[in-house]
Amino acid sequence: MAEGGILSVVGIGPGDGAHATPAALEAIRNAQVVVGYRTYIKLVRHLLEGKEVVQTGMTEEIGRARSAVERARAGANVALVSSGDAGVYGMAGLVFEVLREIGWKRGDSPTLNLVPGITAANSCASRVGAPLVHDSCTISLSDLLTPWAVIAKRIEAAASSDFVISLYNPASGRRTRQIVEAHSIIRRYREGSTPVALVKGAYREAEKVVMSDLDHFLDYEIGMLTTVIVGNSHTFFFEGYMVTPRGYTRKYTLEGDVLPGQQPGRSLVVREEEV
Ligand code: SAH
Repeated sequence: MAEGGILSVVGIGPGDGAHATPAALEAIRNAQVVVGYRTYIKLVRHLLEGKEVVQTGMTEEIGRARSAVERARAGANVALVSSGDAGVYGMAGLVFEVLREIGWKRGDSPTLNLVPGITAANSCASRVGAPLVHDSCTISLSDLLTPWAVIAKRIEAAASSDFVISLYNPASGRRTRQIVEAHSIIRRYREGSTPVALVKGAYREAEKVVMSDLDHFLDYEIGMLTTVIVGNSHTFFFEGYMVTPRGYTRKYTLEGDVLPGQQPGRSLVVREEEV
């Protein structure tokens, strides 16, 4: 292996160990230095014995990325931990910005090890049913780094094209206006009865799930740990679950017969040696 350090950028999933991948846990176990936001460090504290731990607050992200890169560049095996997937509103982007800033090239120290994790959209979806079975998108409502006009435009585009929408960073103590505005944009395109799920702290101790709809979800608590999943025009509630159909029901009967006016789909032929 090339001389130098390793920087693992590790998504640890929603919160509990069972939903972190074996690869994520191994990257943390192998690291000499573990860097992360306090809450995430706490989530993996059982793996940290004998390691140097660099904990930082929420607003110190760039410092966290810099110190992880510097330590790894100097030869250490460093794990930078992020909740969910580090590449989804996580630390992975900042790491690349820092690497670009210092003129890092492939083959230089540190070697990068990007480890995927279960992102909130997926963990939260599993808590409420099957809301993401058709086309969906994620939008972060945090306008700390992105102008609100850009965010509003994306909400409008997603709402008007009937995507299921997972809203990340919907609100915080001080930031409460964005979710109200997001609601009014989406409501222009969708019925008030459209299913909406609020999942707070999925797979964590204080997990809370609320099933509601577009006209009522703002009556409930929405905070920094909540993901809001807004259904599309076909999403429905079934036995307390939120379900977005795949779309098959309008083409086939459940027995597999083609409905009048529909063309049967053809499978792609794949030769065995290509599989
Ligand atoms: N990298 C993370 C997202 C970080 S942005 C990921 O891939 O999941 C922070 C936002 O993620 C929160 O405001 C919330 O909307 C969502 N989030 C993260 N963990 C969550 C959890 N356990 N339950 C519900 N939402 C979560």
